Amino acid sequence: MKIVDLRSDTVSNPTPEMRQAMAQAPVGDDVYGEDPTVNRLQEIAAEMLGKESALFVPSGTMGNLAAIMAHCNRGDEVILGNFSHTFLYEAGGYSILGSVHPHLIPNQSDGTLDLDDIKNAIRPDDVHQPITRLICLENTHNRCGGVSLSAEYTKAVGELARKHKLKLHMDGARIFNAAVAQGISAQELAAPADSVTFCLSKGLCAPVGSVLCGSQEFISRAHRIRKQLGGGMRQAGIIAAAGIIALESMVNRLAEDHARAKRLATGLEGVRGLVLDPGIPYTNMVYLTITANNGLSDAQYIAQRLAEQGVLVGSVGKSRFRLVTHCWIDDEGVDRAIESFRKVLVVE
Ligand SMILES: *Cc1c(COP(=O)(O)O)cnc(C)c1O
Repeated sequence: MKIVDLRSDTVSNPTPEMRQAMAQAPVGDDVYGEDPTVNRLQEIAAEMLGKESALFVPSGTMGNLAAIMAHCNRGDEVILGNFSHTFLYEAGGYSILGSVHPHLIPNQSDGTLDLDDIKNAIRPDDVHQPITRLICLENTHNRCGGVSLSAEYTKAVGELARKHKLKLHMDGARIFNAAVAQGISAQELAAPADSVTFCLSKGLCAPVGSVLCGSQEFISRAHRIRKQLGGGMRQAGIIAAAGIIALESMVNRLAEDHARAKRLATGLEGVRGLVLDPGIPYTNMVYLTITANNGLSDAQYIAQRLAEQGVLVGSVGKSRFRLVTHCWIDDEGVDRAIESFRKVLVVE
């Protein structure tokens, strides 16, 4: 039985073209700065994000952590959304390893942080209080349904940051999904940010890696931090080669994942007992809730029943699911997922 794995776009395997590029990649010791493939990936990434410089890192988590540590001193404060990936799912690394204090403000349902909330979170110069240093945004916003932030909104936050002499970091794990969905360049979306992280290993299908982009001076600080965190890799061109393919030939096809998320959402809307989050899908994610239906309301139990039919979905909390489309999900897979939900949920 072919498995339809909708748990995340991180489960996407490298494409045959990537495997070939990986096998043939010229490599060197990247800790010495001598891996031509890593250097090329970093140059392409910096150009696509419109920044001076870029750094290849093993994961998005390390990219965000190195960014926060490069922007902040020990004891500084970072303003971040209560539903942000960095706050929820990165094991508190910025606190533990960076000694940086989080100032949480609520994420709005559209993934944004309210500008007044940001303003109110900025600390006055007072010895009782930590020093505000950084604002973090997330685009697309994972927990807010994969919704993308607009360039106008990001620009407004950038202006606010500059006015208060703060830095702006964007967790752009899926910034190319945001760019494709809005029909603008990732460069435009990232322009107001001092730094941006994006993932090669999600919808873009590379097996490993993320890239952190910013000014030359910022990246040279982040480079030392990457070394401190144990992220200096040697012949990393083997994996960077897949990253180059990801950037050169996997970006535009993200539109197909968005179209399939729409097909999935439309199909699931018709299944009794399921309610989609409003507005879904924005990009490649479908979030839905099960209403009490025939006594079946436990997401984990339903996920297990779906798995028996070869359909894997993510359960979020007690009664919610997240389904994510990616390169290895075709129309047939989408239809099988809809059919399996129907079988599991609809009892005569
Ligand atoms: C996946 C993800 C990350 C980074 O995750 P890694 O698994 O460490 O690569 C960061 N932010 C968001 C929004 C993500 O979805």
